Amino acid sequence: MGNLFVVSGPSGSGKSTLCALAADMDKKIKISVSATTRAPRGEEKNGVEYFFLSNEQFDEKLAEGDFYEYANVFGNRYGTLKSHVDSLTARGFDVILEIDYQGAYQVRDKNKEAYLIFVMPPSYEELKKRLTDRHTESEEQLNIRLAKASSEMEERVNYDKVIINDSLPDALGELLSIIESKRN
Ligand code: 5GP
Repeated sequence: MGNLFVVSGPSGSGKSTLCALAADMDKKIKISVSATTRAPRGEEKNGVEYFFLSNEQFDEKLAEGDFYEYANVFGNRYGTLKSHVDSLTARGFDVILEIDYQGAYQVRDKNKEAYLIFVMPPSYEELKKRLTDRHTESEEQLNIRLAKASSEMEERVNYDKVIINDSLPDALGELLSIIESKRN
């Protein structure tokens, strides 16, 4: 059985890049694909970044009991599909759930072995720059994400480990060594 890792951090902390690189470097790591009701952004494809569901489809999965956890983030629903994650860990993969803190605590309640990692941007200024440079949000969305980032970052004290994403190679090295250290 593979292990379960949760990676959280504000939008723009660089957690997606970090997780994607970790999975590239180590073929025993898989990133869970979440379901969401938000619309695809840019080049995002169904089944790759997310399973994009309508509100009705999300409700159906809820009724079927197929969510490990779910949460409302920025007015959209996001959730981890149990069937998806369980099949990966059963095949021996270490699975990363890239989810927000509300989901992280639900996962910890269900699975005490889950290891929670919080990714911090090096500074508020850098966070703002990364979000602005991404050009994927409207100005209103950007301001909402920035405002939420500060309160979100206070949640880091409840995590098992905080990684500061200042130097990408260093942060990646830290993430990979945590995952390796949990293997038997
Ligand atoms: P984004 O819209 O930028 O892709 O994601 C917004 C937020 O939703 C991020 O903080 C991300 O961690 C969170 N998120 C993505 N997937 C899930 C999920 O399956 N469950 C929960 N609880 N949060 C998620």
